[in-house]
Amino acid sequence: MKSLTAGAEIDAWCTKCRMDLMHRIVAMVQSAPKRVICLTCNSEHNYRAPRTETTASGVHVRARNTGPKPSPAAARVTQKARAEKERADSWSSKTLGQAVDAFTRYAMDKSFREGELVLHSKFGEGYVDKVLEGAKISIMFRDGARTLAHRAN
Ligand SMILES: [Zn+2]
Repeated sequence: MKSLTAGAEIDAWCTKCRMDLMHRIVAMVQSAPKRVICLTCNSEHNYRAPRTETTASGVHVRARNTGPKPSPAAARVTQKARAEKERADSWSSKTLGQAVDAFTRYAMDKSFREGELVLHSKFGEGYVDKVLEGAKISIMFRDGARTLAHRAN
């Protein structure tokens, strides 16, 4: 391999012609060409190695590093998003469009049944999703389920 110096001609990628073409070296940094002039269009630009070489190795690297398989983590996220949408749809169909007096104002000394519509001073509208052991109920609100106390019969 001949040593490169300013003024020498080399193959390089021309950023203007977008082709590998003969260039004349204008400036060197240590033993590498830094600035070149395209002998075709006469534009001066930073040296870029010919594409024919870099592409070949680049393809090789890409083929090894990427795969079409979705990761298990991504699948879990999709599943979670779907469950969240179902929950939100369920909440909407049960609570939206209901008359205001269809809701029972939440208070922990009241007794609630499954499916009962509840209006909470802080969390808003919801419905009793489950009546739990130990004088607790799970209420589904717009932003998610919350376990609250109630008076067990
Ligand atoms: Zn050019």
